[in-house]
Amino acid sequence: MADYPDTQLFIDGTWRPAADGRVIPVLNPATATQIGTVAWAGKGELDAALAAAERGFLQWSRTSAFERGAVMRRAAQLMRERAETTARLMTLEQGKPLAQSKAEVLAAADTIDWFAGEGQRAYGQVIPARAPDVLQITMKLPVGPVAAFTPWNFPINQIVRKLSAALAAGCSIIVKAPEETPASPAELIRAFADAGAPAGVVNLVYGVPAEISEYLIPHPVIQKISFTGSTPVGKQLASLAGLHMKRATMELGGHAPVIVAGDADLDLAVSLMVTQKFRNAGQVCVSPTRFLVQERLADDYIARFTEAAKTLKVGDGLDSATEMGPLANERRIPALEGLIKDAVAQGAKLTTGGRRIGNEGWFFEPTVLADVPLSARIMNEEPFGPVAVINRFGDLDEAIAEANRLPYGLAAYAFTRDSATATRLGNEVRAGMTTINHLGLSLPETPFGGIRDSGYGTEGGSEAIEAYLDTRFVTRKG
Ligand code: NAD
Repeated sequence: MADYPDTQLFIDGTWRPAADGRVIPVLNPATATQIGTVAWAGKGELDAALAAAERGFLQWSRTSAFERGAVMRRAAQLMRERAETTARLMTLEQGKPLAQSKAEVLAAADTIDWFAGEGQRAYGQVIPARAPDVLQITMKLPVGPVAAFTPWNFPINQIVRKLSAALAAGCSIIVKAPEETPASPAELIRAFADAGAPAGVVNLVYGVPAEISEYLIPHPVIQKISFTGSTPVGKQLASLAGLHMKRATMELGGHAPVIVAGDADLDLAVSLMVTQKFRNAGQVCVSPTRFLVQERLADDYIARFTEAAKTLKVGDGLDSATEMGPLANERRIPALEGLIKDAVAQGAKLTTGGRRIGNEGWFFEPTVLADVPLSARIMNEEPFGPVAVINRFGDLDEAIAEANRLPYGLAAYAFTRDSATATRLGNEVRAGMTTINHLGLSLPETPFGGIRDSGYGTEGGSEAIEAYLDTRFVTRKG
């Protein structure tokens, strides 16, 4: 593929291969063929990145929030100008339809802009003192060099939340980006380099994820960790961060419930949820998974959702008619097949889908399972693929109890025309984010994060920058 680059590391303001020339192959999920390579960082490159991040922090943390914001806004503008080419790289390496890739690039520019402003509002406080000649102030100061670890499902979006908040706060960063989708995140880093971020402020590495995290997290230069990925890996990294007293943000897995009350707008609840379920082939941490539909609407809901899933056009993301691309990697195929087989064996009805499509590329049918017993694995494990599970409930207590049954608490969705029901669901469904009667998640200015096994910390809204700031108190007399 002539127009897909081999991706290098970016360390101390320079693009470079690994010193020993090691690379990892990169595959196109629509064809399962190799399209390029990505450099594989070893200990030498990690040491260089750490030294650069330490120097970069000294310079960037002393740069005013206004100058930092100006660099960030230039980077945002470059992302917009380069959106077409960056989106194409993302589709080639990740598989999602081109329009979704482009939307991700443009949303990244929006996120960078928003955090640029937020950095200028990182206010401390003046606390009333008990004596007339005492001054008590708090300051918000950058925590230090950050290590960020991000997955392949949103190659740019997962990085940009961490990178923008860190840079706005005055931190430097080492990003361990996804090896499976390396070229589009490299374009994000390139935008910052071209926008004038000083050497060492932004560093990009790829390699063996566990080797890199085990080296960076305990390292004394690193002061803050941010990870997006699965709950089991998040728990390992959070414990390593705890052992070394490093601050951490964990954006982990979910198993989002969708409560469709009997008084809901059925058209809306079907059309919005079909879009949201099959976006990015369901490989989304906030993907709606456990549909709970009140008995009187349940048969209609299953029938209409199934029909809509059947008509989705699955294909290569570069084809403009494609609505759902392939799975991003081959291992999701046996994972999904296993979950579906187990559910059907336990009595679930497969109303559509359930199989891989063809044998070239990693395409999978949009799938709907209905009336699935709670003992099925898919009712308990995150499917991370294009599978919707639709069950029924009698009264709202039952739906809330099922929504809260799992230890996850990331996203939740609900549809109802009754404001008392909406209020109750907002209060009682245990989720970091609940969206009722519309798709309202994932804006830079609103919180984005989970509770319980879905992690801690938020990557959006005014609290997001706090994760990259220390609150320091100074009191003086006279
Ligand atoms: P995985 O658990 O092997 O990896 C998930 C992510 O964590 C990958 O990006 C991987 O590179 C990274 N990772 C794994 N071990 C690591 C380590 N020791 N140190 C640092 N990073 C590490 O799973 P996978 O097969 O890549 O993805 C499947 C599962 O991961 C899904 O079922 C889903 O639960 C989860 N996932 C979640 C998100 C999300 O947005 N929250 C994104 C991708 C994957």
